[in-house]
Amino acid sequence: MLFLLIITAAFVTSIAGDSCESYAHPTYGRTGRCIKTSDCPNSLFISNLCESQPANIKCCFSPSAPTLNCPSIVSRSEWGARAAKSTTGMAKSLPYVVIHHTTGGTCAAKSACIVKMKGFQNYHMDSNGWVDIGYSFLVGEDGNIYEGRGWTYVGAHTYGYNSQSIGISVIGDYMSQKPNSAALNSVKALIECGISRGYISSTYTLRGHRDLDSTSCPGNAFYNEIKTWTNYRSLVRSNMSPQFNVPEDYLVMQDM
Ligand SMILES: [Zn+2]
Repeated sequence: MLFLLIITAAFVTSIAGDSCESYAHPTYGRTGRCIKTSDCPNSLFISNLCESQPANIKCCFSPSAPTLNCPSIVSRSEWGARAAKSTTGMAKSLPYVVIHHTTGGTCAAKSACIVKMKGFQNYHMDSNGWVDIGYSFLVGEDGNIYEGRGWTYVGAHTYGYNSQSIGISVIGDYMSQKPNSAALNSVKALIECGISRGYISSTYTLRGHRDLDSTSCPGNAFYNEIKTWTNYRSLVRSNMSPQFNVPEDYLVMQDM
């Protein structure tokens, strides 16, 4: 009987043995299929993952894969984040996205943005006494998205809304001019990514920080920009109310 199981296992392995089917491509998607490259939409294929197939068969990643909608994100380890002192798990399918600016200078290169990221985290942890950098994500005018608390942990950015929203902050001061197109496009792409992965509800409401607390954040120019975005909802239409589910919901965010 054991011998039969081994034979069966070996047989199954030989059928499903190409690396393609278990390879999680960081950008293209999590599952590939071994097909002709000419049949692969958008040429999203890579070589050497269909070991048992002829040379013209390559590992094709479906454009419908959920991760396809996601831009690359500079991870905490990439920007050298300190470990969080503690974390609180976030619900999925969140109803709100809250937009911030950090105030202060902008950054147009990754190395400069990383310096700022470390500064924000140090300020939030050492001066404010928070467990981690406050925002869920930050976006630089270099076009990069930097991971803060990420999708899965409650942030500290908007009093009464932390446990029901993703907080995205663009690095810089946007009172008199809005962020550049690289940053704006990355904010939009990040929101779409969150929807495609189920972290943000497809019927989410977009707000600026100033809609929910007494602050000028995210600056007049940036605020006027997001008010033109499809999911922005005025106070009259949104029916939002604060909730205090976790300790972070009580934290009052002062954008630096
Ligand atoms: Zn803010």
